[in-house]
Amino acid sequence: MFDLTGKVALVTGGSRGIGRATAVALASRGARVVLGYYAREDAARQVVAAIEQAGGQAEALRFDVTDAETTDRAITEAARRSGRLDILVCSAGVSSSALLLELTDAELERLLSVNTKGALHCARSALKTMIRARSGRIVLMSSVAADMGNAGQAAYAASKAAVIGLGKSLAREYADRCVTVNMIAPGFVETDMTAGLSEQQRAGMLAAVPLHRPATAAEVAAAVVYLASEEAAYVTGHTLRVNGGMYV
Ligand code: NAP
Repeated sequence: MFDLTGKVALVTGGSRGIGRATAVALASRGARVVLGYYAREDAARQVVAAIEQAGGQAEALRFDVTDAETTDRAITEAARRSGRLDILVCSAGVSSSALLLELTDAELERLLSVNTKGALHCARSALKTMIRARSGRIVLMSSVAADMGNAGQAAYAASKAAVIGLGKSLAREYADRCVTVNMIAPGFVETDMTAGLSEQQRAGMLAAVPLHRPATAAEVAAAVVYLASEEAAYVTGHTLRVNGGMYV
């Protein structure tokens, strides 16, 4: 099950956190992985090395998902070099905590540009190859914040709710080309994004998780592997919650 031998996957945010775990998991199932990163070349190289050491195939590719033109060029070129693009996972993301009345315009712009427009730019580019192939899997990373809201994260939640609207629409637009589009809404996951939380914030989050612990990035990656697989061929437009029961 979940054999991805011969497939090519592009994972944005592949240098760290959920994207990193996803790149490793997809490669372990046989996919050749192109992992996108933005600033942390060192981290991206480490992921490539770890995948290769385990016998897999990977390359790192730097592009800023907020820049439509650069992103299109990077993804189109990666698909051309690989001869195909079967799987796109949009995990690149940023978060921010500020009450709405304290949120700056620059911060609002950054959240929407990376989280929402970034996913749209990547999907638009990957779809060109997938439509021609009449086959493809797109997985977009949303958040539990889109489902339930979160005080202090209005803009982040809005940027992630928009991802669900985007994915549902793409699922309808490209189903007849055999491209599935699904979302994952993680809850509290141990990554750099949550490493800066205070003990008090951490305790508050965990109190809301019936499983009483954060997820590992690998647990989210396992859900991506399923949605990227042949076994998920009949699942599209779905948001899979990986949140320990935080929102049901
Ligand atoms: P993370 O550890 O902070 O990693 C973020 C990744 O995004 C990094 O690889 C980073 O690249 C990349 N990135 C940031 N800005 C970019 C840009 N402009 N262009 C290209 N890549 C960019 O985050 P994470 O915790 O793994 O989160 C992954 C996704 O899951 C995000 O979309 C996040 O919103 C979502 N999520 C996370 C949680 C959680 O609890 N962690 C919960 C719900 C949803 P560099 O390494 O080069 O900087």
